[in-house]
Amino acid sequence: MYEELRKRVYEANMELYRRNMVLYTWGNVSEADREQGVFAIKPSGVKYEDLRTEDIVIVRIEDGVKVDGEMNPSSDTPTHAGLYRAFPEIGGVTHTHSTCATAWAQAGKSIPCFGTTHADYYRSDIPVTRYISKEEVDRGYELETANVIKEAFIGRNPVHTPAVLVRGHGPFTWGKDADNSVYNAVVLEEVAKMAMYTLSITPEQSELPVSIQDKHFLRKHGPNAYYGQGH
Ligand SMILES: [Zn+2]
Repeated sequence: MYEELRKRVYEANMELYRRNMVLYTWGNVSEADREQGVFAIKPSGVKYEDLRTEDIVIVRIEDGVKVDGEMNPSSDTPTHAGLYRAFPEIGGVTHTHSTCATAWAQAGKSIPCFGTTHADYYRSDIPVTRYISKEEVDRGYELETANVIKEAFIGRNPVHTPAVLVRGHGPFTWGKDADNSVYNAVVLEEVAKMAMYTLSITPEQSELPVSIQDKHFLRKHGPNAYYGQGH
C-alpha cells in the first residue's frame, strides 16, 4: 500500500538533493493523497545519500499521526500537516534552508517582484511571516509554524503565490504535487538570489511595473493563459 505515493515522494526528495538545495538532512518534501486523508514525507534525520523509497513515512493529514512506515517522520511533519489543512488546493510541500531564500527569511524581508522571472511564478512579493512567539514555541513549534504561514496568507491566494519565508527560519513552498513543490523551491532560490543582486546594484530599486507583472503571471496562469504547448 502507498507504494506509488512513496516512490513519488522519494523521487521528489532526491530531486531536491540533485539540485543542490539541501545539505546533510536539511529540508524535506511531502505529497498528499487527499482521498486517503494521508501524506507521505521524508523520515527524520536520514541523510539524502542513504534515503530509500521504503523509508518514506505515511501520516494522517488530520493530525500528523503515522499510519504506515518503519521510521519516524520528519520533525517538520506538523508543519506539513497544518499546511495541507490550511490550503486544501495544494498537493505537495517542500521545506529547505536554501541559502538566498533563507537569507531573506533571516532578514525578515519579503522578496519584492523585481523582474519577470519572479512574475512568471509568483503573483506579488513572496511574503515573510512574523516571528513565532515564546508561547507558540512552547505550545507546539512546528504546528505554530504552519499557523504563522496561514496568517501571512490572509487575503492572498496560496495557489498564485506558492511560497513563503518563515521569519528567522527559511522557505516553505508548495504545489499541485511533491515534484511541483520542489520545482517552486528551486525557482524561489533563484528569484531570491536575483533579488539580492538587484538590490546590491541599486539599493533603492522599485518593483517591476504591475502591468508587466500581470502580463507575465497571467500568460502562464488563469483562464486566458497561453504560455506553453497546452492551449
Ligand atoms: Zn527548517
